[in-house]
Amino acid sequence: MNRLYRSLPAVDKVLQLLGADPELMDAPRALLRDGVNAFLDALRRDIAEERITDPAELSLDALAPRLKDFLRGFCAPSLRRVVNATGVVVHTNLGRSLLAESAVAAVAEAARRYSNLEFDLATGERGSRYTHVVRLLANLTGAEDALVVNNNAAAVLLVLETLAKGREVVVSRGELVEIGGSFRIPEVMARSGAILREVGATNRTHLRDYEQAVNESTAALLKVHTSNYRIIGFTSAPSAPELRNLADRHGVPFLEDLGSGNLHDFSGQIPGWEPTARQALEQGAHICTFSGDKLLGGPQAGIIVGERRFIEPLRQNPLNRALRIDKLTLAGLEATLRLYLDPERAVREVPTLRMMLASADELQRRASNLARALRKTLDDRAVISVERGFSRVGGGAFPESDLATSLVAVRPKALDPEGLRARLLQSDPPLIGRIDQDAFLLDPRTLDPKEHALVVRLLDLALA
Ligand SMILES: *Cc1c(COP(=O)(O)O)cnc(C)c1O
Repeated sequence: MNRLYRSLPAVDKVLQLLGADPELMDAPRALLRDGVNAFLDALRRDIAEERITDPAELSLDALAPRLKDFLRGFCAPSLRRVVNATGVVVHTNLGRSLLAESAVAAVAEAARRYSNLEFDLATGERGSRYTHVVRLLANLTGAEDALVVNNNAAAVLLVLETLAKGREVVVSRGELVEIGGSFRIPEVMARSGAILREVGATNRTHLRDYEQAVNESTAALLKVHTSNYRIIGFTSAPSAPELRNLADRHGVPFLEDLGSGNLHDFSGQIPGWEPTARQALEQGAHICTFSGDKLLGGPQAGIIVGERRFIEPLRQNPLNRALRIDKLTLAGLEATLRLYLDPERAVREVPTLRMMLASADELQRRASNLARALRKTLDDRAVISVERGFSRVGGGAFPESDLATSLVAVRPKALDPEGLRARLLQSDPPLIGRIDQDAFLLDPRTLDPKEHALVVRLLDLALA
């Protein structure tokens, strides 16, 4: 074993050799050195556990191909593009929404150049970063005022901390949601310093429950969108106008956390479409909060719209400074909101909307095209078929309504679907699909048709 350890190549020797390799020439030296050390550590384990017993396996020549492969991966940036063939449109693990081209351009411009981020061009004096989207949000939701922060979790926190710290907020037991990534209403409320006053039962809450809970220490009524689950069957909850009426009678705000939030009513095209922010305000909410990167299809942001007398104190709260939106996000958000001024344009250009609203015919056509291209390239290495299936909106929106789609099923001959999945995770870029029993499934809904050639190439390599 000692002889084996001594046969391991020296780090500097390896670096010397690799420094001349065209594929690794541009890799940062410091990373390369870490990578070589990690690789040698793995070899030491192989020796200790007797997976390597022959010194010949440790010559630089014998190791070079594996080592180069390893270092290419090790030195690549950590945050990378992936190809999303899962059919989950707002896939939180894969970055939620893709930005429209005009939003991408706005982000790049804001990144590259100085801007009037906090500069009033009319007076030449200091301005506010929030002014850039207030008018747009007012136009799109009918709200009197608006504020944007880092994300919707921050929006809820800021609203509660500002308007309800040390006082009670009444919430239905059926709405104490946990969103993925550990956003839990009771915990966010605790962090804000507001006191949770739960009312009703899990499945049924009545107006009288709220009425009985309201007292002199009540700061607000809160309605939370049960984003990622539904309580069905014997259920009941007071309507928004009823809650607004109760809030007004006690002089407290009625807050609504819409979760996904959206700006245009697509209920005609997608059954179960959730109420828009405008509808929520019309129904009675004094303030609504929602995400920028769920159904809206913009960058990660938390949007707060509603009455000025409640929004202004949020803007003044020092906590707002810690939750503030950055200029790149703001640029992407403004460009996205501008598209919504013409909803037809939004459908054409906002990828999240375009993918959600893709027609069954269109998806069938895309699946057939992709299947044909795969058959041609993969030949007899896999059986390719087109099957009916479902896509999901994701992001916690409409958990109960799936969108009909056509899937391309790949059944490799020499590999099981799990094996294929594992290989595609290692491909460059990684291709993420779904597995259903004996097939690896690709959903054209979340693939840009321009990515089809890439998908074919990645499968070709994975099944080589
Ligand atoms: C998603 C969601 C949040 C959190 O929004 P982020 O933008 O992810 O911070 C809060 N409340 C509800 C109801 C949600 O669905």
